[in-house]
Amino acid sequence: MNGARIANADREPGNWLSHGRTYNEQRFSPLKVINDKNVTRMGLAWHYDLDTRRGQEATPLVVDGVMYFSTAWSKVVALQAATGKPLWTYDPKVPPEWAVNACCDVVNRGVAMWGGKVFVGTLDGRLVALDAGTGKPVWEKLTIDPKFRYTITGAPRVVKGKVLIGNGGAEMNVRGYISAYDTETGNLAWRFYTVPGDPSKPFESPILGKAAKTWTGEWWKNGGGGTVWDAMAYDPQLDLLYIGTGNGDPWARKIRNSQVGDNLLASSIIALRPDTGEYVWHYQENPGDEWDYDSAAQIILADLQIDGQLRKVLLHAPKNGFFYVLDRATGKLLSAKPFVRVTWATGIDLQTGRPIESPEAQYEASNKTLVVSPGPGGAHTWQPASYSPDTGLVYFPVLEAGFAYKSAEQFSHKALAFNTGTDPVASGMPQDPNIKKGILGSIKGRLSAWDPVKQVEVWRADRPGPWNGGALSTAGNLVFEGTGNGQFEAFRANTGEKLWSASAQSGIVAGPISYTVNGEQYVAILAGWGGVMPLAAGEVARQSPQMNNVPRMLAFKLGGKASLPPAPEFKPRALTPPRTTANPATVKKGEELYQQYCSNCHGDVAVSGGVLPDLRYSGTLKTDVWFGVVLDGMLKQAGMVAFAKEISRQDAAAIREYVVYRANQSLAESGNQKKP
Ligand code: CA
Repeated sequence: MNGARIANADREPGNWLSHGRTYNEQRFSPLKVINDKNVTRMGLAWHYDLDTRRGQEATPLVVDGVMYFSTAWSKVVALQAATGKPLWTYDPKVPPEWAVNACCDVVNRGVAMWGGKVFVGTLDGRLVALDAGTGKPVWEKLTIDPKFRYTITGAPRVVKGKVLIGNGGAEMNVRGYISAYDTETGNLAWRFYTVPGDPSKPFESPILGKAAKTWTGEWWKNGGGGTVWDAMAYDPQLDLLYIGTGNGDPWARKIRNSQVGDNLLASSIIALRPDTGEYVWHYQENPGDEWDYDSAAQIILADLQIDGQLRKVLLHAPKNGFFYVLDRATGKLLSAKPFVRVTWATGIDLQTGRPIESPEAQYEASNKTLVVSPGPGGAHTWQPASYSPDTGLVYFPVLEAGFAYKSAEQFSHKALAFNTGTDPVASGMPQDPNIKKGILGSIKGRLSAWDPVKQVEVWRADRPGPWNGGALSTAGNLVFEGTGNGQFEAFRANTGEKLWSASAQSGIVAGPISYTVNGEQYVAILAGWGGVMPLAAGEVARQSPQMNNVPRMLAFKLGGKASLPPAPEFKPRALTPPRTTANPATVKKGEELYQQYCSNCHGDVAVSGGVLPDLRYSGTLKTDVWFGVVLDGMLKQAGMVAFAKEISRQDAAAIREYVVYRANQSLAESGNQKKP
């Protein structure tokens, strides 16, 4: 595997050589043995069950008959791509308690390959090169300072002999950057920081000196954010590497600035030279963002006819709900239109490239609770999008959900909390039944087929829930997508007619691929429910029908005759909480602490979205084991950190009182009789 091979990936359509298949990250497969005329004959070829029930977000690679993919906890699996027979597995042994630093589950989105090696980034910040034949580590580098709460969940890419890796943590007080390591030696070749550091020290690159003028106050003390946690694409002709950056840290812009500024280069697309990391241009989608609008979603490069002219463009549908088309040589904005209901801006000014922000979305200025769309879940985030040069359409999963934002009255960064700068109780899912009903009623999910030239939706497939998988389009006039309710489906790419579906028995959030072995075409998808929505936004995630989580790789082919074992029955449990005895002030204190420390994994307002335990059902609500788990790390091996450093026993008791209160509230709402 080398650069020429990836750059010419279309000459070997049977392989999937790089995260987005090709450097332009179009995720379009030129294969058409399986097509819109015969896809109804497609059946399961094989499946491979995984050993972890956490979220699965990876896109597999397939090279010369072998499939390589990562799973939760940054593990790597190699299988025979025709049979699913395992060849090797690798476990980097991530310390489970590092999970407290992950905003959005212990997921991993994929591996990269080059020169006989497989590269994976680990949740605890390492970059590991494995021998592709044996799965044994060849070298390993720590890419972060472990004093800070960095995590790696994104897939590395390899360009010109350098493996590129970023990291996440823009709610955990980190400073974003991307690093390039030599594929052979593992030596650091360059590092590009996306936000300026301490201005009393020299800036690492000239652009950071300019960027620092758009920050005020002492932002660097909390890192600044702007993390490079997912998107990368490369244009070999222009020799430009494109990356997307996350939000500023924390979300509330007045906390990271004494006077509001643009906060470059957070929430931006940046073009760099891949040999040196030298800055070439940037386009900022959200200057001075305050809604958690990362610009880290997948970047697609395409050549499109725009106003009668063939343009080299960059396509981007980030969290903020606008679909952007940029000239990728210069970074100039060509067009931007909303692909969902957007309330934070009325449009994007094509002259200046800046959004026209709506006053009614400025929660810090108003000091009130404001419901803004999209919310921090984003209108579209990391889930893979696919551009078909045949139909000229971009296929991607879209999510519509508003979110209640309110400024925190007092805010200080906490070492073990999720730091947003918003009021932990007022923000999120309001408990006023009418507002809650309104928000939940407005939540929608769909697969959208978008024309990037006309900037209009051409067709859509509505989904039962908001959190679904990524898309693959093929030359067989097909689009594949998995859903949060466990279906893997195929549509006619030009019309949206649904042609085929199969049950995965488990929610799907990852993106599919297609490949061949000995001329036979396969379509593969990793199933497994997880990611930010089921962890942090339980009530929203529960808009998808609930089911068990059975993470597995599934591969399909024409005439496939394999079958899955019977699906485990989903049994809703009975709520049997102890009676609420605490006074309202204790419950309120517990609510604040729960929302700050617990909600990001166990779910907003103590409702789990089906990955981690729903604490309302916990047996520990009645025993002192609660304190052993919360304070002392009794379940450390399962990923539950000890909070004793930051939470007192009295605080832990208050959190429990809040969960007991919520459990009783849920019991009353469901109309169940409490069993004695
Ligand atoms: Ca973010």
